[in-house]
Amino acid sequence: MPKFDLRTIIFMSMLLTFMLSMLLAITRTHHKEVHGPGYWAVGNLVIGLGMVLVLIQLDATKVLFLPGMALIGAGLSLFINGIQAFIGRKPNHRIPVLVFFLLMIIDAYFMLTQHDVRSTVVLGAIIFAAIYLYCARLTFSRDEGVVGSLYWIASSLYLLMAILMLGRAVYASQVGAEVFDSFATWPVNAYTFMLGAVSQFFISSLFVLILSYKLSQNLESIATIDSLTGVLNRRGLEDAALKMQDICKRINLSMAVLLIDIDHFKKVNDQHGHLCGDDVLRHLAKEIANILRSSDVLGRYGGEEFCAFLPNTTESDALGLAERIRAGVEASPLKLNHGAIKATVSIGVADSVRAGYDFKGLVATADSAMYGAKNGGRNRVVSYTQITRDSKLKS
Ligand code: GH3
Ligand code: MG
Ligand code: MG
Repeated sequence: MPKFDLRTIIFMSMLLTFMLSMLLAITRTHHKEVHGPGYWAVGNLVIGLGMVLVLIQLDATKVLFLPGMALIGAGLSLFINGIQAFIGRKPNHRIPVLVFFLLMIIDAYFMLTQHDVRSTVVLGAIIFAAIYLYCARLTFSRDEGVVGSLYWIASSLYLLMAILMLGRAVYASQVGAEVFDSFATWPVNAYTFMLGAVSQFFISSLFVLILSYKLSQNLESIATIDSLTGVLNRRGLEDAALKMQDICKRINLSMAVLLIDIDHFKKVNDQHGHLCGDDVLRHLAKEIANILRSSDVLGRYGGEEFCAFLPNTTESDALGLAERIRAGVEASPLKLNHGAIKATVSIGVADSVRAGYDFKGLVATADSAMYGAKNGGRNRVVSYTQITRDSKLKS
Protein backbone atom coordinates (compact mmCIF):
# COMPACT_ATOMS: atom_id res chain seq x y z
CA MET A 1 0.00 0.00 0.00
CA PRO A 2 1.58 3.36 -0.97
CA LYS A 3 2.04 5.85 1.84
CA PHE A 4 0.17 9.04 1.21
CA ASP A 5 1.52 12.27 2.54
CA LEU A 6 -1.31 14.07 4.32
CA ARG A 7 0.06 17.50 3.48
CA THR A 8 0.15 16.76 -0.26
CA ILE A 9 -3.31 15.19 -0.19
CA ILE A 10 -4.82 18.18 1.58
CA PHE A 11 -3.06 20.55 -0.79
CA MET A 12 -4.33 18.69 -3.88
CA SER A 13 -7.84 18.40 -2.40
CA MET A 14 -7.79 22.12 -1.70
CA LEU A 15 -6.87 22.93 -5.30
CA LEU A 16 -9.61 20.60 -6.57
CA THR A 17 -12.15 22.20 -4.28
CA PHE A 18 -11.29 25.73 -5.41
CA MET A 19 -11.50 24.59 -9.02
CA LEU A 20 -14.95 23.09 -8.42
CA SER A 21 -16.01 26.28 -6.73
CA MET A 22 -15.04 28.27 -9.83
CA LEU A 23 -16.83 25.82 -12.13
CA LEU A 24 -20.02 26.02 -10.07
CA ALA A 25 -19.79 29.82 -9.78
CA ILE A 26 -19.61 30.03 -13.59
CA THR A 27 -22.64 27.73 -13.84
CA ARG A 28 -24.42 29.97 -11.33
CA THR A 29 -23.76 33.15 -13.34
CA HIS A 30 -24.96 31.52 -16.57
CA HIS A 31 -28.18 30.15 -15.10
CA LYS A 32 -29.46 32.51 -12.43
CA GLU A 33 -32.91 30.92 -12.74
CA VAL A 34 -31.63 27.60 -11.35
CA HIS A 35 -31.22 27.47 -7.59
CA GLY A 36 -28.49 25.36 -6.03
CA PRO A 37 -25.17 25.90 -7.86
CA GLY A 38 -24.59 29.14 -5.94
CA TYR A 39 -24.69 27.25 -2.62
CA TRP A 40 -22.38 24.55 -3.99
CA ALA A 41 -19.92 27.17 -5.26
CA VAL A 42 -19.84 28.86 -1.84
CA GLY A 43 -19.79 25.43 -0.14
CA ASN A 44 -16.68 24.38 -2.04
CA LEU A 45 -15.05 27.76 -1.38
CA VAL A 46 -15.69 27.39 2.36
CA ILE A 47 -14.34 23.81 2.31
CA GLY A 48 -11.24 25.06 0.46
CA LEU A 49 -10.66 27.82 3.00
CA GLY A 50 -11.09 25.29 5.80
CA MET A 51 -8.43 23.14 4.16
CA VAL A 52 -6.03 26.11 4.01
CA LEU A 53 -6.44 26.61 7.77
CA VAL A 54 -5.99 22.89 8.45
CA LEU A 55 -2.93 22.76 6.22
CA ILE A 56 -1.05 25.62 7.85
CA GLN A 57 -1.78 24.32 11.35
CA LEU A 58 -1.29 20.63 10.65
CA ASP A 59 1.55 20.13 13.10
CA ALA A 60 0.47 22.65 15.69
CA THR A 61 -3.07 21.15 15.81
CA LYS A 62 -4.17 24.22 17.68
CA VAL A 63 -6.07 27.47 17.31
CA LEU A 64 -6.55 27.64 13.52
CA PHE A 65 -7.05 23.89 13.14
CA LEU A 66 -10.41 24.09 14.90
CA PRO A 67 -12.11 26.67 12.68
CA GLY A 68 -10.51 24.84 9.74
CA MET A 69 -12.42 21.61 10.45
CA ALA A 70 -15.54 23.57 11.39
CA LEU A 71 -15.38 25.41 8.05
CA ILE A 72 -15.08 22.12 6.16
CA GLY A 73 -18.19 20.87 7.97
CA ALA A 74 -20.08 24.11 7.27
CA GLY A 75 -19.05 23.98 3.58
CA LEU A 76 -20.32 20.43 3.33
CA SER A 77 -23.60 21.52 4.96
CA LEU A 78 -23.96 24.25 2.34
CA PHE A 79 -24.28 21.34 -0.10
CA ILE A 80 -27.42 20.34 1.82
CA ASN A 81 -28.80 23.86 1.19
CA GLY A 82 -27.81 23.63 -2.47
CA ILE A 83 -29.61 20.31 -2.92
CA GLN A 84 -32.67 21.66 -1.07
CA ALA A 85 -32.77 24.68 -3.40
CA PHE A 86 -32.09 22.56 -6.48
CA ILE A 87 -34.95 20.15 -5.83
CA GLY A 88 -37.34 23.02 -5.10
CA ARG A 89 -37.35 23.00 -1.29
CA LYS A 90 -36.66 25.94 0.97
CA PRO A 91 -32.99 25.87 2.06
CA ASN A 92 -32.53 25.69 5.80
CA HIS A 93 -29.70 28.17 6.43
CA ARG A 94 -29.45 27.23 10.08
CA ILE A 95 -27.85 23.87 9.20
CA PRO A 96 -24.38 25.18 8.13
CA VAL A 97 -24.29 27.66 11.02
CA LEU A 98 -25.28 24.94 13.48
CA VAL A 99 -22.67 22.51 12.11
CA PHE A 100 -19.97 25.20 12.29
CA PHE A 101 -20.62 26.02 15.95
CA LEU A 102 -21.18 22.40 16.95
CA LEU A 103 -17.80 21.40 15.51
CA MET A 104 -16.12 24.45 17.08
CA ILE A 105 -17.56 23.71 20.51
CA ILE A 106 -16.77 19.98 20.41
CA ASP A 107 -13.24 20.55 19.15
CA ALA A 108 -12.55 23.40 21.56
CA TYR A 109 -13.87 21.48 24.55
CA PHE A 110 -12.22 18.11 23.94
CA MET A 111 -9.02 19.23 22.26
CA LEU A 112 -8.13 22.41 24.07
CA THR A 113 -9.48 21.83 27.56
CA GLN A 114 -9.42 18.03 27.85
CA HIS A 115 -6.53 17.34 25.42
CA ASP A 116 -8.66 14.42 24.22
CA VAL A 117 -7.98 14.13 20.49
CA ARG A 118 -9.75 10.76 20.27
CA SER A 119 -13.17 12.16 21.26
CA THR A 120 -12.69 15.09 18.90
CA VAL A 121 -12.02 12.72 15.99
CA VAL A 122 -14.88 10.34 16.85
CA LEU A 123 -17.50 13.06 17.34
CA GLY A 124 -16.29 15.00 14.30
CA ALA A 125 -16.57 11.86 12.13
CA ILE A 126 -20.10 11.22 13.43
CA ILE A 127 -21.18 14.78 12.53
CA PHE A 128 -19.70 14.42 9.03
CA ALA A 129 -21.45 11.05 8.65
CA ALA A 130 -24.75 12.72 9.62
CA ILE A 131 -24.25 15.44 6.98
CA TYR A 132 -23.46 12.83 4.30
CA LEU A 133 -26.46 10.74 5.35
CA TYR A 134 -28.78 13.73 5.08
CA CYS A 135 -27.40 14.52 1.60
CA ALA A 136 -27.96 10.86 0.60
CA ARG A 137 -31.55 11.10 1.82
CA LEU A 138 -32.18 14.35 -0.09
CA THR A 139 -30.73 13.08 -3.35
CA PHE A 140 -32.40 9.66 -3.12
CA SER A 141 -34.69 9.26 -6.10
CA ARG A 142 -36.87 6.49 -7.44
CA ASP A 143 -37.40 8.37 -10.71
CA GLU A 144 -36.57 6.58 -13.92
CA GLY A 145 -34.65 8.18 -16.74
CA VAL A 146 -31.32 9.96 -16.91
CA VAL A 147 -31.89 12.50 -14.13
CA GLY A 148 -33.22 9.80 -11.77
CA SER A 149 -30.12 7.65 -12.36
CA LEU A 150 -27.75 10.58 -11.81
CA TYR A 151 -29.49 11.39 -8.50
CA TRP A 152 -29.27 7.74 -7.55
CA ILE A 153 -25.50 7.71 -8.15
CA ALA A 154 -25.07 10.91 -6.10
CA SER A 155 -27.14 9.43 -3.30
CA SER A 156 -25.10 6.21 -3.31
CA LEU A 157 -21.83 8.17 -3.17
CA TYR A 158 -23.11 10.17 -0.21
CA LEU A 159 -24.19 6.98 1.53
CA LEU A 160 -20.77 5.45 0.93
CA MET A 161 -19.11 8.53 2.44
CA ALA A 162 -21.44 8.33 5.45
CA ILE A 163 -20.46 4.68 5.99
CA LEU A 164 -16.77 5.53 5.63
CA MET A 165 -17.11 8.33 8.19
CA LEU A 166 -18.84 5.98 10.64
CA GLY A 167 -16.01 3.51 9.99
CA ARG A 168 -13.52 6.25 10.84
CA ALA A 169 -15.41 6.99 14.08
CA VAL A 170 -15.43 3.30 15.09
CA TYR A 171 -11.76 2.81 14.17
CA ALA A 172 -10.69 5.96 16.03
CA SER A 173 -12.53 4.81 19.13
CA GLN A 174 -10.70 1.44 19.09
CA VAL A 175 -7.16 2.39 18.04
CA GLY A 176 -4.32 2.68 20.54
CA ALA A 177 -3.72 6.00 22.33
CA GLU A 178 -0.23 6.45 20.80
CA VAL A 179 -1.90 7.30 17.44
CA PHE A 180 -3.15 10.55 18.90
CA ASP A 181 0.28 11.64 20.12
CA SER A 182 1.39 12.20 16.53
CA PHE A 183 -2.07 12.46 15.04
CA ALA A 184 -1.00 14.16 11.78
CA THR A 185 0.82 10.99 10.72
CA TRP A 186 -2.21 8.69 11.17
CA PRO A 187 -2.68 7.23 7.63
CA VAL A 188 -6.48 7.21 8.00
CA ASN A 189 -6.46 11.03 7.83
CA ALA A 190 -4.94 11.02 4.36
CA TYR A 191 -7.45 8.44 3.12
CA THR A 192 -10.34 10.39 4.62
CA PHE A 193 -9.30 13.62 2.95
CA MET A 194 -8.61 11.93 -0.37
CA LEU A 195 -11.93 10.04 -0.50
CA GLY A 196 -13.78 13.16 0.68
CA ALA A 197 -12.25 15.25 -2.12
CA VAL A 198 -12.81 12.59 -4.79
CA SER A 199 -16.46 12.08 -3.79
CA GLN A 200 -16.91 15.88 -3.70
CA PHE A 201 -15.55 16.08 -7.23
CA PHE A 202 -17.80 13.32 -8.54
CA ILE A 203 -20.91 14.63 -6.84
CA SER A 204 -20.33 18.21 -8.04
CA SER A 205 -19.85 16.89 -11.58
CA LEU A 206 -23.08 14.88 -11.27
CA PHE A 207 -24.97 18.02 -10.23
CA VAL A 208 -23.58 19.95 -13.21
CA LEU A 209 -24.68 17.05 -15.46
CA ILE A 210 -28.19 17.00 -13.95
CA LEU A 211 -28.38 20.76 -14.39
CA SER A 212 -27.34 20.74 -18.05
CA TYR A 213 -29.73 17.86 -18.79
CA LYS A 214 -32.62 19.71 -17.14
CA LEU A 215 -31.78 22.92 -19.01
CA SER A 216 -31.68 21.17 -22.38
CA GLN A 217 -35.09 19.62 -21.62
CA ASN A 218 -36.47 23.04 -20.63
CA LEU A 219 -35.21 24.58 -23.86
CA GLU A 220 -36.80 21.79 -25.85
CA SER A 221 -40.16 22.28 -24.15
CA ILE A 222 -39.97 26.09 -24.51
CA ALA A 223 -39.45 25.58 -28.23
CA THR A 224 -42.36 23.17 -28.73
CA ILE A 225 -45.02 24.13 -26.16
CA ASP A 226 -47.57 26.91 -26.60
CA SER A 227 -47.07 29.15 -23.58
CA LEU A 228 -50.71 30.27 -23.38
CA THR A 229 -52.51 26.93 -23.50
CA GLY A 230 -49.79 24.42 -22.59
CA VAL A 231 -50.53 22.22 -25.62
CA LEU A 232 -47.99 21.81 -28.44
CA ASN A 233 -47.28 24.84 -30.58
CA ARG A 234 -47.19 24.62 -34.37
CA ARG A 235 -43.58 23.43 -34.42
CA GLY A 236 -44.21 20.79 -31.76
CA LEU A 237 -47.34 19.69 -33.57
CA GLU A 238 -45.49 19.33 -36.84
CA ASP A 239 -42.69 17.30 -35.19
CA ALA A 240 -45.19 15.00 -33.45
CA ALA A 241 -47.28 14.59 -36.61
CA LEU A 242 -44.18 13.67 -38.62
CA LYS A 243 -43.26 10.98 -36.09
CA MET A 244 -46.82 9.64 -36.09
CA GLN A 245 -46.91 9.69 -39.87
CA ASP A 246 -43.69 7.62 -40.08
CA ILE A 247 -45.07 4.94 -37.77
CA CYS A 248 -48.55 4.80 -39.36
CA LYS A 249 -47.09 4.65 -42.86
CA ARG A 250 -44.67 1.85 -41.96
CA ILE A 251 -47.32 -0.44 -40.47
CA ASN A 252 -50.01 0.72 -42.86
CA LEU A 253 -52.37 2.32 -40.35
CA SER A 254 -54.61 5.23 -41.23
CA MET A 255 -54.31 8.46 -39.28
CA ALA A 256 -56.92 11.17 -38.95
CA VAL A 257 -56.73 14.88 -38.30
CA LEU A 258 -59.19 17.29 -36.68
CA LEU A 259 -59.04 21.04 -37.27
CA ILE A 260 -60.98 22.79 -34.52
CA ASP A 261 -61.83 26.50 -34.90
CA ILE A 262 -63.66 28.53 -32.29
CA ASP A 263 -66.83 30.16 -33.62
CA HIS A 264 -67.13 33.95 -33.59
CA PHE A 265 -64.12 34.29 -31.33
CA LYS A 266 -63.69 37.91 -32.33
CA LYS A 267 -67.01 38.60 -30.61
CA VAL A 268 -65.79 36.91 -27.40
CA ASN A 269 -62.79 39.25 -27.39
CA ASP A 270 -64.94 42.26 -28.19
CA GLN A 271 -67.53 41.52 -25.51
CA HIS A 272 -65.35 40.23 -22.66
CA GLY A 273 -61.88 41.58 -23.45
CA HIS A 274 -58.75 39.92 -24.74
CA LEU A 275 -57.74 38.49 -21.35
CA CYS A 276 -61.05 36.64 -21.00
CA GLY A 277 -60.52 35.48 -24.59
CA ASP A 278 -57.20 34.00 -23.47
CA ASP A 279 -58.98 32.22 -20.60
CA VAL A 280 -61.45 30.73 -23.07
CA LEU A 281 -58.53 29.45 -25.19
CA ARG A 282 -56.94 27.83 -22.12
CA HIS A 283 -60.27 26.35 -21.01
CA LEU A 284 -61.04 24.87 -24.44
CA ALA A 285 -57.51 23.42 -24.78
CA LYS A 286 -58.09 21.58 -21.50
CA GLU A 287 -61.58 20.39 -22.50
CA ILE A 288 -60.34 19.06 -25.85
CA ALA A 289 -57.27 17.39 -24.33
CA ASN A 290 -59.50 15.62 -21.78
CA ILE A 291 -61.66 14.10 -24.51
CA LEU A 292 -58.74 12.97 -26.71
CA ARG A 293 -56.95 9.67 -26.08
CA SER A 294 -53.42 9.56 -24.67
CA SER A 295 -51.97 8.47 -28.03
CA ASP A 296 -53.52 11.48 -29.80
CA VAL A 297 -51.54 14.66 -30.30
CA LEU A 298 -53.04 18.10 -29.73
CA GLY A 299 -51.57 21.44 -30.71
CA ARG A 300 -52.50 25.07 -31.22
CA TYR A 301 -52.36 25.52 -34.95
CA GLY A 302 -53.19 29.23 -35.13
CA GLY A 303 -54.72 32.02 -33.02
CA GLU A 304 -58.01 30.31 -32.14
CA GLU A 305 -57.50 27.05 -34.01
CA PHE A 306 -56.49 23.72 -32.54
CA CYS A 307 -55.35 20.70 -34.48
CA ALA A 308 -55.38 17.07 -33.35
CA PHE A 309 -53.67 14.10 -34.99
CA LEU A 310 -55.17 10.69 -34.21
CA PRO A 311 -53.15 7.54 -34.98
CA ASN A 312 -54.83 4.31 -36.11
CA THR A 313 -58.07 6.21 -36.78
CA THR A 314 -60.25 6.49 -39.90
CA GLU A 315 -62.35 9.45 -40.91
CA SER A 316 -65.56 7.82 -39.68
CA ASP A 317 -63.99 6.97 -36.26
CA ALA A 318 -62.69 10.53 -36.05
CA LEU A 319 -66.15 11.94 -36.80
CA GLY A 320 -67.47 10.33 -33.61
CA LEU A 321 -64.63 11.76 -31.52
CA ALA A 322 -65.02 15.20 -33.13
CA GLU A 323 -68.72 15.19 -32.34
CA ARG A 324 -67.93 14.42 -28.69
CA ILE A 325 -65.50 17.36 -28.63
CA ARG A 326 -68.08 19.69 -30.23
CA ALA A 327 -70.77 18.63 -27.76
CA GLY A 328 -68.33 18.75 -24.82
CA VAL A 329 -67.26 22.33 -25.63
CA GLU A 330 -70.86 23.44 -26.06
CA ALA A 331 -71.84 21.86 -22.73
CA SER A 332 -69.04 23.41 -20.64
CA PRO A 333 -68.94 27.19 -20.85
CA LEU A 334 -66.13 29.03 -19.06
CA LYS A 335 -67.49 30.06 -15.67
CA LEU A 336 -66.74 33.62 -14.55
CA ASN A 337 -67.55 35.43 -11.30
CA HIS A 338 -70.45 37.09 -13.09
CA GLY A 339 -71.96 34.54 -15.49
CA ALA A 340 -70.21 32.42 -18.06
CA ILE A 341 -68.78 32.60 -21.57
CA LYS A 342 -70.39 30.14 -23.97
CA ALA A 343 -68.23 29.02 -26.83
CA THR A 344 -68.78 26.63 -29.71
CA VAL A 345 -66.41 25.11 -32.24
CA SER A 346 -66.53 24.05 -35.87
CA ILE A 347 -64.49 20.95 -36.67
CA GLY A 348 -63.15 19.69 -39.98
CA VAL A 349 -62.17 16.01 -40.21
CA ALA A 350 -59.93 14.24 -42.73
CA ASP A 351 -57.82 11.09 -42.85
CA SER A 352 -54.75 9.72 -44.59
CA VAL A 353 -56.82 7.32 -46.71
CA ARG A 354 -58.22 10.25 -48.68
CA ALA A 355 -55.60 12.97 -48.14
CA GLY A 356 -52.32 11.01 -47.88
CA TYR A 357 -49.91 11.11 -44.94
CA ASP A 358 -48.29 14.45 -45.72
CA PHE A 359 -48.71 16.96 -42.86
CA LYS A 360 -49.62 19.91 -45.09
CA GLY A 361 -51.98 17.86 -47.26
CA LEU A 362 -53.81 16.47 -44.20
CA VAL A 363 -54.22 19.89 -42.58
CA ALA A 364 -55.33 21.53 -45.85
CA THR A 365 -57.96 18.83 -46.36
CA ALA A 366 -59.24 19.17 -42.78
CA ASP A 367 -59.21 22.95 -43.27
CA SER A 368 -61.52 22.78 -46.27
CA ALA A 369 -63.81 20.47 -44.28
CA MET A 370 -63.73 23.01 -41.42
CA TYR A 371 -64.80 25.78 -43.79
CA GLY A 372 -67.62 23.49 -44.85
CA ALA A 373 -68.69 23.44 -41.18
CA LYS A 374 -68.48 27.25 -40.96
CA ASN A 375 -70.53 27.63 -44.12
CA GLY A 376 -73.03 25.10 -42.86
CA GLY A 377 -73.83 27.35 -39.89
CA ARG A 378 -70.96 26.68 -37.37
CA ASN A 379 -71.05 24.54 -34.19
CA ARG A 380 -70.86 21.39 -36.28
CA VAL A 381 -68.53 18.66 -37.51
CA VAL A 382 -67.91 18.09 -41.22
CA SER A 383 -65.67 15.52 -42.88
CA TYR A 384 -63.75 15.86 -46.11
CA THR A 385 -65.84 13.03 -47.60
CA GLN A 386 -69.02 14.97 -46.84
CA ILE A 387 -67.89 18.20 -48.57
CA THR A 388 -66.60 16.38 -51.66
CA ARG A 389 -69.86 14.43 -51.88
CA ASP A 390 -71.89 17.64 -51.46
CA SER A 391 -69.91 19.46 -54.14
CA LYS A 392 -70.32 16.49 -56.52
CA LEU A 393 -74.05 16.52 -55.89
CA LYS A 394 -74.19 20.25 -56.63
CA SER A 395 -72.29 19.85 -59.91
P1 GH3 B 1 -65.30 32.33 -37.19
O1 GH3 B 1 -66.49 31.75 -36.51
O2 GH3 B 1 -65.52 32.58 -38.62
O3 GH3 B 1 -64.08 31.52 -36.95
O4 GH3 B 1 -65.10 33.76 -36.52
P2 GH3 B 1 -63.90 34.23 -35.65
O5 GH3 B 1 -64.23 35.56 -35.08
O6 GH3 B 1 -63.55 33.18 -34.68
O7 GH3 B 1 -62.72 34.24 -36.69
P3 GH3 B 1 -61.62 35.26 -37.10
O8 GH3 B 1 -60.55 34.44 -37.76
O9 GH3 B 1 -62.21 36.37 -37.91
O10 GH3 B 1 -61.07 35.85 -35.75
C1 GH3 B 1 -60.21 35.16 -34.95
C2 GH3 B 1 -59.99 35.97 -33.72
O11 GH3 B 1 -59.23 35.29 -32.77
C3 GH3 B 1 -59.26 37.25 -34.01
C4 GH3 B 1 -58.22 37.38 -32.96
O12 GH3 B 1 -58.30 38.60 -32.28
C5 GH3 B 1 -58.54 36.26 -32.02
N1 GH3 B 1 -57.34 35.70 -31.44
C6 GH3 B 1 -56.32 35.10 -32.09
N2 GH3 B 1 -55.36 34.73 -31.23
C7 GH3 B 1 -55.78 35.10 -29.98
C8 GH3 B 1 -55.22 35.00 -28.68
O13 GH3 B 1 -54.14 34.45 -28.47
N3 GH3 B 1 -55.95 35.47 -27.64
C9 GH3 B 1 -57.16 36.08 -27.84
N4 GH3 B 1 -57.82 36.53 -26.78
N5 GH3 B 1 -57.69 36.20 -29.06
C10 GH3 B 1 -57.03 35.72 -30.12
MG1 MG C 1 -59.72 30.92 -37.32
MG1 MG D 1 -62.85 31.30 -35.38
